[in-house]
Amino acid sequence: MAIALEELASKLGFTESEMRKHVLELGFDADDSIEDDVAELILDEFAGKTDKSAADVYGDLVHEELEREIVRTQRKKMAGKTTTKKAYKPEVNLVVKKGDSVEIPEQISVKELAEKTGSSAAVLIGGLMKNGILANINQIIDFDTAAIITDGLGFTIKKKRVEASAEDLFHGNLEKLLAEDDPSDLVDRAPVVCVMGHVDHGKTSLLDVIREANVVDDESGGITQHIGSYQVERKGRKITFLDTPGHEAFTAMRARGARATDVAILVVAADDGVMPQTKEAINHAKEAGVPIVVAINKMDKPGANPDRVKAELAEHGVQSEDWGGDAIMVPVSALKKEGIDELLESVLLVADVLELKANPNRPAVGTVVESHLDTNLGPVATILVNTGTLKVMDSFIIGKAFGRLKLMQDHKGTRLRKLLPSDTAQIVGLSEVVESGQILQVVKDERTARQQATQVGGLIQEELIKAGMGMQEILQRIKEGSLKLLKIVLKADTQGSLEAIKQSLAKVKSDDVAIKVIHSGVGSISESDVMMAAASPGTLVLGFHTKANVHVRKLAEKTGIEVVTYEVIYKLVEDLTKILSGMLEDEILDIELGKYNVMQIFWTGKGEFVVGGKITEGVMQKGAKLRVMRDDEEVGVGEVAGLKLVNEDIDELEKGQECGVRYKGKVKLQEGDILEAWKQEKRMKTL
Ligand code: GDP
Repeated sequence: MAIALEELASKLGFTESEMRKHVLELGFDADDSIEDDVAELILDEFAGKTDKSAADVYGDLVHEELEREIVRTQRKKMAGKTTTKKAYKPEVNLVVKKGDSVEIPEQISVKELAEKTGSSAAVLIGGLMKNGILANINQIIDFDTAAIITDGLGFTIKKKRVEASAEDLFHGNLEKLLAEDDPSDLVDRAPVVCVMGHVDHGKTSLLDVIREANVVDDESGGITQHIGSYQVERKGRKITFLDTPGHEAFTAMRARGARATDVAILVVAADDGVMPQTKEAINHAKEAGVPIVVAINKMDKPGANPDRVKAELAEHGVQSEDWGGDAIMVPVSALKKEGIDELLESVLLVADVLELKANPNRPAVGTVVESHLDTNLGPVATILVNTGTLKVMDSFIIGKAFGRLKLMQDHKGTRLRKLLPSDTAQIVGLSEVVESGQILQVVKDERTARQQATQVGGLIQEELIKAGMGMQEILQRIKEGSLKLLKIVLKADTQGSLEAIKQSLAKVKSDDVAIKVIHSGVGSISESDVMMAAASPGTLVLGFHTKANVHVRKLAEKTGIEVVTYEVIYKLVEDLTKILSGMLEDEILDIELGKYNVMQIFWTGKGEFVVGGKITEGVMQKGAKLRVMRDDEEVGVGEVAGLKLVNEDIDELEKGQECGVRYKGKVKLQEGDILEAWKQEKRMKTL
């Protein structure tokens, strides 16, 4: 309903033009009439300042206006046309019901707030006035102010969640995504458990027994498939298991900052005790701050000696509850299916202390547990939902992959429509295979998913994924003083040399930086060692009389982890001393890349040639330096300005490939010339 401006003015003792000016100042349209809520606002403003009370004035006005409205409607009916109102009216395109919660950004204008909440701008301005803020509808207010003035209007407002930036997704910043939830939205969620321990101690057997004995019964009766995780129910409570025994899944996720695991079950065979991978598992869990429940397995065996296991674990800092420590240790037999219930109950007990919570009412954020190319379904991924609800048809991005969720199924092949926090299932609908530990984020539509994925792809191209800190960065941080703890994963050929190195390391002193061996063991350097270093920034992997195979080296390169091996303890200690004092220096090394046989000259320009030929040794790289060899003699130098395979520009090609080379240099190339490619690389002088 509209109220005549003139009448409102006269009731309050103003002229019409004065009132118009005031209404305009407030940011509303001021035609001959104004909306009744604007009128109400103005009346409120002047309440007590006129002879009559605001309510009386308003009552009069409405009464008079109603009478006129009736006349007008009748006239309109007769004339058959309508008039348009000009006063500001919020464009309410959503209906906010009582008890609804509306998301608004950190800052918002009064007008937008009115539109988003479907409330009257006048009422909101009135609220601001009551709080001593003179504002018009274009005034920008912050979230807290908005919360105060909308209090009592029948709905609640919430800060709008910002979608993770491409940067955050690229770096797998799960913590940041999870931190956004308002504590009041959080509800309990099931614990996520991984099973770790030494090889052959019974991890797989235990996972199988738990899976088979406790799956939620349903009619599907499908064949169990390993999708990387599964959920069981124990006394009406769910527990999610990461179904990949060992440390890989755990560290791969952690390396990306994802704290997917809440509780670790450490399996120790009662007849074998603490073994190298048991220690490794303890260190992994400790580094990640994940509580351990110990399953003392193979209790059925004649040689089972749980007390020995407890004593050995105590030596490694895991103290049994019944010995005054805080780790629950449960004797079990995976073979005889004994002790499983107690084990699960202990997991729930530990989980209770952790008070695990998540917000089911938000777009899902999840972690990739496993992913591969399925012959029928295309790229699939098993997702563990960290927070929110994941639904079929959701658009999502995972790193530079994106998609629309077409189908979800659990480990029994049961089709699911939605997943709540801590739930897990295999999803179909990805653009490509992803990596475990990557973050899934649901976005509003497919277009956004595609855009964000492209952005992340760009970032990946820009910088190589370096989960760890290379030596350069470690040195830089030590010099800056921002790295106070140098962590080391140490491997040696024998227990004796390991102890000797540890003793020597204890003598390496620096006032500013401490050394901590986060894991040590006998044997060659493994991928797990590198992943552990990658999961914990500022870690070096050092080997003594031991090697890292090519896979391990490749992983180290990919994750940016420095792996250094030594033959003498003294040298290792010397290097660490230098690192701590920031005295290590760069060294420039010449690296030979490969040879290329010039077979044809295609084009000759000024100081530039395009030739065709074949790589006879090693590789050719764009940007590499060249020596031009003719009859075994160096006749000049140059540079690879470009490499072409058929018509495509390529950065690097290998031995055996025929390709075009764009040569930059002074020598006039001839057929039969050999181009020797090399490059310079910066290395640490003493390493
Ligand atoms: P994982 O390498 O830790 O995954 O160990 P597995 O689950 O593959 O088990 C290794 C071996 O130990 C297998 O031969 C199992 O049958 C056996 N095993 C596992 N649990 C038990 C148990 O509780 N009792 C006995 N006697 N043998 C077991």
